[in-house]
Formats: sequence, C-alpha cells, structure tokens
Amino acid sequence: MPASERFTETLYSAYGQTLSVDEKLYEERSEHQHLLIFRNALFGTVLVLDGVVQTTEKDEFIYHEMMTHVPLLAHGAARRVLIIGGGDGGILREVCKHRNVEHITQVEIDPAVVELSKQYLPKHSNGAFDDPRLNLIIGDGYRFVQETDERFDVIISDSTDPEGPAQVLFSSPFYSGCKRSLRPGGIFVAQNGVAFMQTDELLTSAQRLGPLFADCSFYLAAVPTYAGGQMAFAWASDDAKLRQVDIDTLVKRWRETAIKSCYYTPEIHRASFALPQYLRDLQL
Ligand code: SAM
Repeated sequence: MPASERFTETLYSAYGQTLSVDEKLYEERSEHQHLLIFRNALFGTVLVLDGVVQTTEKDEFIYHEMMTHVPLLAHGAARRVLIIGGGDGGILREVCKHRNVEHITQVEIDPAVVELSKQYLPKHSNGAFDDPRLNLIIGDGYRFVQETDERFDVIISDSTDPEGPAQVLFSSPFYSGCKRSLRPGGIFVAQNGVAFMQTDELLTSAQRLGPLFADCSFYLAAVPTYAGGQMAFAWASDDAKLRQVDIDTLVKRWRETAIKSCYYTPEIHRASFALPQYLRDLQL
C-alpha cells in the first residue's frame, strides 16, 4: 500500500504504530492542534491530534469505561463530576450512564474536537452532549480549576499527552487546582500515558501529586491503539480506602447502576490497581 495511504504515529521518535488510511475524512489545523480523522479497516474511524492516536471506534470502550466507572464506583455517591478535555464525548457518555450523577461540567479547549467528533464519531458521545445535566465550557481546563468556585466529587482529566495545550494539565498548579476543586472524599483520575513507554510521565505525575494528596497511585488497562503496553491512569484522593473498596461493595454498587459494560467489571476494577514489579520498584 503506498506510504501516502498509511498513518504512522509520531508520539515516539524511535517507534510508531502504522494504520492504513482507508478513507481520509477530515484534516485541518484548528487554533489549538492538528486534527486528522480517517477510517481504518480494523479500528473503524480514528481521531488523531498532533500526530497521536486519541481514540478509535473499535477500542474506545476500554479506556472510557475504565476512566469513568473506576472512580465513580470507588466513590459510591458522586453527584458532581468534572471532565477536563474529553472532546470526543466518550467519557461524557459513560458518566451520563450513572443516574445518580446530578451535574457534569466539561471543560474542553478545542470546540473543533467536539463538533468533529459529533459528526465523525457519533457513537462516542451518543447524544450525551444533549444531556441536561451537562455544562459544557469551551476553555482551558488549567485555568478553570484555578478559578472555579464549583466543587466536584470526581474529576476526570481526559487530555492529550503533555505536549501543546495539554502540557499544563500535567503540572503541579493544575493538580493543586483539582485538589482545591474536589469535595471531601473526592477522587481525581487522569490519563497518564502508556506505562511501559512513558514511565517518566508516571514518575513526574507521582512526584507532583504526592505532596497534594494523601493517596496516589495508578491503575492500568490495555488499550490496543495506545501502543506499547498498558495505559496508565493516575489516581489521587485523600482516603486510601477509596482505592481499596472491597469486591462485594463494588459488585453491589455496580449492580445498582444497571449499566451494561463491554470491559469494566468489579473484578477488573480491583485487579487494575495491581502494578507490575517494575512500576512498584519506582515507588509509584
Ligand atoms: N483519550 C485520549 C488520550 O488518552 O489521549 C484523549 C482524548 S480527548 C480527544 C483529549 C482532549 O484534550 C482533546 O479534545 C484536547 O483538545 C483536550 N485538551 C488538551 N489540552 C486541554 C486543556 N488545556 N484544557 C482543556 N482541554 C484540553
């Protein structure tokens, strides 16, 4: 297949996954980033921002279910949720499935991602952008958490990698702003890169979150198009018990949601916090 009909990810200079571009659907540079959307025979529609695969139709459920149900089920009584980034709508879709959630604020810097995802990846949001509980703010998540007087039970930072507009979302001031914006008993989670490939990013996040929260760690899930191993999700709260909710409680809470998942189970929830020795050796 001619090179021009293939996309090679540029996240790593010495390594990259390649996907066939079976149909290019959209390519433009917005005010904030380069957007590329194409169809691939194996993964369906693929969204790429600044040369990095963000999400695909075929495997998005793994990431969005784990980023959402793990903190919400661990919390057990979340009513107010903040989503930073997440312009494709996948996190929002999963949060909206929790009937007990009363209010969702989402702060996304690039309106083009929202509009193009609605058009080309409609199943990601699946109508969630019309949910009456949602307050969608087009803006910088970093600035929002510094300035807001809203308080949240769960904050989910679903950002691009720490380059470009998302660099600030991995900074100590951002984490301080999230800490300030959490209610007592609140939980912060964030996409933190592929553990094996971006180990330094996990280390940096642990060093920055550690002084702010009583309990910090990571949980893992393998997402095929986040190439190079298991995706790491940063976890932070002020109560270590939130990370160790027993299986019977998780099963009960999960049953009460009546949510039908494709990846998340209470057993997977618990197991996802089991870190491999090379990460434990980093005292993460
Ligand atoms: N699941 C993907 C991943 O793990 O890489 C992320 C998906 S989502 C498309 C990432 C979103 O973060 C993008 O829509 C991007 O515009 C948004 N974003 C980046 N920096 C931001 C900022 N400072 N404030 C708010 N949203 C931001």
